[in-house]
Amino acid sequence: MVQRRAEKKEADDGRTAAEKISADLRKQRERLLQELKKRRKREEGLTHKEVIDMIPRYLSDDLSDRELVAFLGHINGCRDCYEELETMFMVDRTIHYLDDGEDGSFDLTPELIRDMEHKLHRVQVNQMLRKFRAAAALFSFFMFSMAVLDFFGIFPISRFL
Ligand SMILES: [Zn+2]
Repeated sequence: MVQRRAEKKEADDGRTAAEKISADLRKQRERLLQELKKRRKREEGLTHKEVIDMIPRYLSDDLSDRELVAFLGHINGCRDCYEELETMFMVDRTIHYLDDGEDGSFDLTPELIRDMEHKLHRVQVNQMLRKFRAAAALFSFFMFSMAVLDFFGIFPISRFL
């Protein structure tokens, strides 16, 4: 943000006739870079606001695998959002523990890490299952194709068995 303001100031300063064109070009380039940055953010990950908005759904375990991976990916590299998650996690857990009649006087940070690991692990298991299912589907398709080819005598594999 500060950097962007500095660049804008730089652009405003370059107002002599000779530099007007290059200033315009610079502005154009800056706009393009910003658009690219926005697009990249949309494709690669989530904005801080999106992550913050997802925290309640993370806590109630309502995120899809895809969302969870994007969410944790961002949390992993963003101190601010991690701290926000930590705070809300503690509030959430404290309320639950109070409801359950247990005292909440223990360190919840390792519990959050464990929770994140647990959820990520589940995503990995799901991904593995999906891969396995895809492989199984491919294999059955292959067997089916062989059976069809065999049936029509195009590739009579049963003759070799
Ligand atoms: Zn963030």
